[in-house]
Amino acid sequence: MHIGAADLAELIALCRSEIDRNCAHLSDLDSAIGDGDHGANMRRGLEAVFAEREAIAALALPDALERIGTILVMNIGGAAGPLYGTLAMELGRAMSERGGAPDFAASLERAIAAVARRGRSGPGDKTLLDVLYPVQVEVLRRSAPARVAECAQSAAQSTQAMQARRGRAAYLGARSIGHEDPGASSCALLTATICRYLREHDAP
Ligand code: ADP
Ligand code: MG
Repeated sequence: MHIGAADLAELIALCRSEIDRNCAHLSDLDSAIGDGDHGANMRRGLEAVFAEREAIAALALPDALERIGTILVMNIGGAAGPLYGTLAMELGRAMSERGGAPDFAASLERAIAAVARRGRSGPGDKTLLDVLYPVQVEVLRRSAPARVAECAQSAAQSTQAMQARRGRAAYLGARSIGHEDPGASSCALLTATICRYLREHDAP
C-alpha cells in the first residue's frame, strides 16, 4: 500500500465525509456501551484535519502524518483522541526514521504497538485494536487494498461477541457483549475509505 503526499488532501476530504456520514451511527454504538459521543468526537477531529488539509498535503508524508496525529489528539478528545493521534504520529515517525525508502508495513506495525502501549490494551479487549491487528496482518502479507478493507469491516463486526476490558465499555462487564465497539467501527470505516482510495488510484 502506498499513499503519495500529493493525494493526501483528497484522501483527508474523503475520510472527513465518511465520518460525517456515519456520525450518528458511531454515536449510537457508543450510546449502547459508552457515553454516546464517539461520532461527535471523530467528526470534530476529522473536521480539524480537513481545515488544514492543504498545508498538511504540502508536507512530506511522514511530517504530514505527525501533524495529523497532533491535530487528532487535540480535537477528538476522549479516550480515542490519544489513540488515533498516537497511531498517526508514530506512523509518521517510523516512516521518517527509515529515510528515503519507508517501509509502510513495518512502520504500521510499530505505530500499532505504540497504540497498544498507550491504551494498555491488546487483542480481544474490544477496542479499535481489534481492527488494527488484523489490518496489520493483511498489510504485512501485502494483501490488496480490497482484502484489507474487507478484513477491517469483518474485524469490527467481530467485536460484537467480545466482552470489553478497556475504556468505558469495560464497566458494563458481560453486558458489553452483543454490541459492536464504536472505536473498532470508526477504525474500519477509515481503513475502508483509505483502501478504496488506494484501489481507485494507484495500488494494484
Ligand atoms: P470516550 O470513551 O472517552 O468517550 P470515545 O467514545 O471517543 O471516547 O472512544 C471510545 C473508543 O475508544 C472505544 O470504542 C474503544 O475502541 C477506544 N478505547 C477506549 N479505551 C481504550 C483503550 N484503553 N485502548 C484501546 N482503545 C480504547
Ligand atoms: Mg464515548
